[in-house]
Amino acid sequence: MSKDSRTLEEWQKEIHRIAKDKGWHEMDRNEAEIISLIHSELSEALEEYREGNMDIYYEDGKPEGYVVELVDVLIRILDHLEERDVDTEKVLREKCDYNRDRNERHGGKRI
Ligand SMILES: [Mg+2]
Repeated sequence: MSKDSRTLEEWQKEIHRIAKDKGWHEMDRNEAEIISLIHSELSEALEEYREGNMDIYYEDGKPEGYVVELVDVLIRILDHLEERDVDTEKVLREKCDYNRDRNERHGGKRI
């Protein structure tokens, strides 16, 4: 598989286009439902971790594993951000700029 040079914005738009093509935006979903769906992907990641499936593997041609479930989280978030017309690169840049100047472990938090 070759690397591609799409920007985060281009990925966000492509992910949203695919989700729309697959009918995921034909129903109204509120923020709480979308957040729950993001949580469900995190739970899938936890289960893959518990099974020790840290790398990508294929089951009947479908990519599975811990890293795939984390990417599912990313896909759901980017789809949602595009639906809300968010300039994710701008927000990401602003938040990273803020984080860079924060105290170590944000003031000594334990975890
Ligand atoms: Mg999943």
